[in-house]
Amino acid sequence: MTTMNLRQTPLPSAAVPPVPFGTDVPWTNWGGNQQATPAFTVRPRTEQEALDAVRFAIKEGLPVRAVGSGHSSSPLVQTGGVLLEMSAMTGITGTDKARRRARALAGTTINAFGDPLWKQGLALSNQGDIDKQQIAGALATSTHGSGKDLGSFSSALRWVKLINGHGEIVEIGEGQLRELRAAQVALGTLGIFLEVELAVEDSYYLQEQITYPDWAETAATWDADIDGNRHYSLLWCPGEGSAELLDLPGAPGLSMTNRSYTKRYNKVRIADESEISTVEGSRLDRSYRIYPGGFTTPFHELEYFVPREHGLAATEAVQELIRTRYPEQKYPVEVRWVKADEGYMSQFQGRETTVITLTTEPGTDYWQFFRDADALLQEFEPRAHWGKIHFMTRSRLERLYPQLETFIDVRREFDPRGVFLNDHTRALLG
Ligand SMILES: Cc1cc2nc3c(=O)[nH]c(=O)nc-3n(C[C@H](O)[C@H](O)[C@H](O)COP(=O)(O)OP(=O)(O)OC[C@H]3O[C@@H](n4cnc5c(N)ncnc54)[C@H](O)[C@@H]3O)c2cc1C
Repeated sequence: MTTMNLRQTPLPSAAVPPVPFGTDVPWTNWGGNQQATPAFTVRPRTEQEALDAVRFAIKEGLPVRAVGSGHSSSPLVQTGGVLLEMSAMTGITGTDKARRRARALAGTTINAFGDPLWKQGLALSNQGDIDKQQIAGALATSTHGSGKDLGSFSSALRWVKLINGHGEIVEIGEGQLRELRAAQVALGTLGIFLEVELAVEDSYYLQEQITYPDWAETAATWDADIDGNRHYSLLWCPGEGSAELLDLPGAPGLSMTNRSYTKRYNKVRIADESEISTVEGSRLDRSYRIYPGGFTTPFHELEYFVPREHGLAATEAVQELIRTRYPEQKYPVEVRWVKADEGYMSQFQGRETTVITLTTEPGTDYWQFFRDADALLQEFEPRAHWGKIHFMTRSRLERLYPQLETFIDVRREFDPRGVFLNDHTRALLG
């Protein structure tokens, strides 16, 4: 596999109609809080079909958005134009063991990387709480796991082939750092990703350790836990019944009120796979079997990113908000850590980060809780997960993302007519 340079593929000028699988087909996301009825929904099976769909849209003056697994709860996917449903473009397309690289089609789900990479002695460096997202969907929002030395999926992007707003297939590699840093976190606004290359690592086993410290103990060992483990994350439970809401096994014989469910995953070497253990709380397994948690019941989340040095204060401020003003909010608060990176629109750009996730129940009125949490966390200069509910505005982005202008310049070069914008992304990045 070689690193590609930016290349423009000459293509015929006439747009042909796409192969739609439907017109006016209603779309709803996983959480049920976002809907759209695109004029055309297209499920391309090949690059050519995706290209035909984009060229058709450009010719007809229609906007285009892509959808991955629909796990974002912000209004990223909505379009009244052409929706490209990417689930048919899937599969690992190449690996390079020596360079520790893997290529995959854009619709490949994270869980489809596990076995094929393992067979080549490779593995993803990190994963988040679930593995059902498509890789291009995960990249678009800077999806992350936890670990202070581990970056997001976006930080691992080294090459991408995409369809731009001129109706061309182009490639961005490491020779085009300016464009690559824009592509790493693009919210779908540079164009339709067709295939990506990620930096990966040698395959590894992880040993899980689950503990249930009370909050005083959690806070007392804060930095030691972050620094002393490859993956450290915690879910703080405000009350009884909290753990069950996310299917977390509670501490045997202990009240979970004001207690944390903490996860540590560290690399181990084993003689052979007879040492694999599936005992809950102390599993030992291939990395990709340890990470994903599940989460089958829909919920809604707000996820904010504060500089690591403010992580404990910000978490305790959120706890106080729940205790004093929102005691009915029972979902655990998740806290994770992510390494700094360079993607222009990455929430981790230039700062080691503590991630704080608030989860709420669909069908309940959680807006005031989220707004108050947003206001409370402002003193910590929070960035927000692009794929979760947030209150970001253009003026906030101007303050929080030093490379915003460069991102917008690149976006306009790739898509001068704004083919790939919808109302949400136009307001932020138009
Ligand atoms: C239960 C649950 C658990 C989660 N856990 C985590 C976690 O641990 N860590 C974390 O960081 N996030 C997490 N998330 C958030 C999730 O990872 C992101 O919202 C992610 O973007 C969803 O990926 P998707 O494939 O569903 O993409 P979608 O939600 O379908 O789309 C997301 C964005 O990607 C764009 N897109 C999709 N495909 C393409 C393409 N081929 N070309 C260009 N743009 C494209 C879409 O237009 C959209 O802008 C979780 C979400 C849920 C619901």
